[in-house]
Amino acid sequence: MRLVLLGAPGSGKGTQADLLKARYGCIHISTGDILRRHLKDKTELGIRAGGFMSKGELVPDDLVVEMVKEKLREDSADSFVADGFPRTLPQAEALENVLKELDRPLDAVVFLQIEEELLIRRLIHRRTCRRCGKIWNVLTMTGGTEVCPECGGELDQRGDDAESIIRNRIDVYRGQTEPLIEWYAKKGILRSIDAVNSPEETFKEIQVVLGR
Ligand code: AMP
Repeated sequence: MRLVLLGAPGSGKGTQADLLKARYGCIHISTGDILRRHLKDKTELGIRAGGFMSKGELVPDDLVVEMVKEKLREDSADSFVADGFPRTLPQAEALENVLKELDRPLDAVVFLQIEEELLIRRLIHRRTCRRCGKIWNVLTMTGGTEVCPECGGELDQRGDDAESIIRNRIDVYRGQTEPLIEWYAKKGILRSIDAVNSPEETFKEIQVVLGR
């Protein structure tokens, strides 16, 4: 299965990608996670990308496309779920071309639909476990909000989950990523999901639209 998850920041792409990976055994390609790793390791790419990421701007297409191409070729692109990529039309075209080269077209693009106020509320309360990487929301967590309920790891708040940066990320999404919805709809592979419910309910809906 080769899937793209499309949606605004906070629509639940990362959470759904984790569930899809666990259920179908596909590789999870999160360009945000890869870039954050580069940033942490202070690689040349990380240093170049960091300035854009801290402001909520997109990292230039050529840098991100190269990173994804490498990953797809390494893993032969048999089965993956891409989250946070593509985010622009040139990225979508580059993905289409590399998948054509590999003779592995996309099966579907799942669009997670959700209104803006809910996005902001989710992102402000989002935490990530430093140890296992699981994403939590302090509003809906039970049993305390200091440590990861699953592995006991320390919870971290992303620097770009501050409200002013969140608003910029949403504006960037509207301007640069939203046009992809129509682009993929025209190709007949877009599947829209109402993503306001719990992660489990949203996951069930995704399974229904994918017919798996
Ligand atoms: P995310 O974790 O997907 O919210 O991404 C965090 C940040 O990484 C974004 O705000 C961008 O600065 C950068 N980023 C992630 N994916 C991409 C992409 N496909 N194109 C450009 N920038 C990206």
